[in-house]
Amino acid sequence: MSFNVKTLGCCPECGEEITADFLLIEYESEGRPARFAECPCCRNVVHPSSE
Ligand SMILES: [Zn+2]
Repeated sequence: MSFNVKTLGCCPECGEEITADFLLIEYESEGRPARFAECPCCRNVVHPSSE
């Protein structure tokens, strides 16, 4: 069993992993889920990129 932290993806600015704790808003855009999160590292509000 591994340590399981839910991550939203990586910051496109600095590459830091962003966990669900930093999720600001989640919505749907043209049928696809979109999220804004605050990067814990560079403090930018970004779209976390999952892969
Ligand atoms: Zn960042």
